[in-house]
Amino acid sequence: MESTKMSRRSFLAAMGAAGALSVAGVGISGQSHKALAADADFAAPATGHGQPLEASVDPKTGDVSINEDVIVRYSACLGCYSSCGNRLKLSRDGGTLYSVGGNPYNPSCANPYLPFEAPLEDAYRSMSYANGYGNSTRGTSCGRGQATQDGYGQPDRITMPLKRAGARGEGKWKPISWDQLIKEVTEGGKLFADIGEDQEIEGFLSIHDTETPLNPDEPTLGPKSNQFVLLGGRGDGRTTFGGRFANCFGSINQYGHAST
Ligand code: SF4
Repeated sequence: MESTKMSRRSFLAAMGAAGALSVAGVGISGQSHKALAADADFAAPATGHGQPLEASVDPKTGDVSINEDVIVRYSACLGCYSSCGNRLKLSRDGGTLYSVGGNPYNPSCANPYLPFEAPLEDAYRSMSYANGYGNSTRGTSCGRGQATQDGYGQPDRITMPLKRAGARGEGKWKPISWDQLIKEVTEGGKLFADIGEDQEIEGFLSIHDTETPLNPDEPTLGPKSNQFVLLGGRGDGRTTFGGRFANCFGSINQYGHAST
């Protein structure tokens, strides 16, 4: 390297993105940082963009200092159908999602990716330049994946059940509680009487019957429980979950929505 003598100010500037983690993958700005880190005393950089750091990694020793006010969760991105890994940075008191980035444990985000059993401290190290880490594993996501943070925070996001509050197609909805949703879906009844509709809606309970034929004249249709139809799914686990629910309910009618 060109020189091992560098001022503390230069070092801090160089290490501003190298030794500390703020967004998944931050600190990936050039090989020179790794060389600089190997020859300089460590000092945690000041936060430069308003977000609290979740951890600092000593570039010489690889020691990790955790900020207990920040929670990091490794999960899966639903920004599109690729279901990459992601990494969420949250406030410990809940309610604030600071950032979304890539997941160093996931092959969609890192190469090589961390083994599943690698401790979480290694995940921090993998996104720093400490001890030969960095530029080898990292953990990145695409821009759309990072933008899921905006989806989480946008004001029109649906966070509660909505029940139709007008004629079909009229576009009128009202929020209801989860308890009301479960009660109405399971028990049925004249669920839209409040908007002048008189029809009786069957609930899950009325068709949870694996003995009675759905139609005695058409025995191949199986039991009444086959009236329960689940259409949906996705390869992130929902398809498996839905399949288990339909099986337990006694219906063979579970379909994926793809290409439908
Ligand atoms: S990170 Fe990007 S490619 Fe991967 S699931 Fe999310 S949006 Fe899709």
